[in-house]
Amino acid sequence: MIKIVQICVAVLLFTVLSPLVHAVELQGQLVQGGLVWGQLSPGSEMSLNGEPVKVGQEGHFVFGFGRDEGPTASLVILHRDGKREERTLRIEKREFDIERVDGLPPKTVTPPPEWRERRKVETGKVREARSFLADNMHWSRGFIRPAEGRLSGFYGSQRILNGKPRSPHYGLDIAGPTGTPVHAPAGGVVRLAVPDFLLEGGIVIIDHGFGVTSTLFHMNSVDVKEGAWIHQGDLIGTIGATGRASGPHVDWRVNWKNVRLDPQLLISDSIED
Ligand SMILES: [Zn+2]
Repeated sequence: MIKIVQICVAVLLFTVLSPLVHAVELQGQLVQGGLVWGQLSPGSEMSLNGEPVKVGQEGHFVFGFGRDEGPTASLVILHRDGKREERTLRIEKREFDIERVDGLPPKTVTPPPEWRERRKVETGKVREARSFLADNMHWSRGFIRPAEGRLSGFYGSQRILNGKPRSPHYGLDIAGPTGTPVHAPAGGVVRLAVPDFLLEGGIVIIDHGFGVTSTLFHMNSVDVKEGAWIHQGDLIGTIGATGRASGPHVDWRVNWKNVRLDPQLLISDSIED
């Protein structure tokens, strides 16, 4: 009798669980600039457009889409039991703000060689700070706005000067008086904290785990140290106009590895269930 009950329970469980096992549920937003997360059985592997996606010890994963991603992306999952799941994800297209400015006097600025050398070192440090695939999962606890103030610049917007498209803006700009506190949008490890990069000025990069990072810059003061563990909401610096900035603000960027995401989608979205 007990055996029969056990078999029934096993069959029932199998019937209930099996449809879930091979159709992974994706949470988040399948949209340009969006972040997507979920959980597989531990030991599974995943790749997005041929790029490996970190799968944590408990099967968690996270990935994101760039500004110009789409119209589709290819997700491949190798489940622990050997089954292969291949999915074509449809990425929602967005309209970004494009501003055309014509009739500007041509500007010919050739940066001096020492400037270029220094810049190379700085961009190398930024790249390195974003290259970790740490095990912490601070990305899963949601994001908060790092500062109070007016939103003055948006992800994806682009200016076309004299017919020449400039590179799009990838951050969310929050403008406020110099000295306004800047808080960690999510917790993690501080991978970079420098007061005076050429373009970014005071810059902090926080590693939220699994390749997800926040970069905050133009800060007047940088009040954290590299290697420190910080919590969401901790003070990391203050708003400023350091580097190349037209007025005091903080520029907040979010990356998944080197893919640039839209920070605004993360604060309008609760990641935790
Ligand atoms: Zn900006």
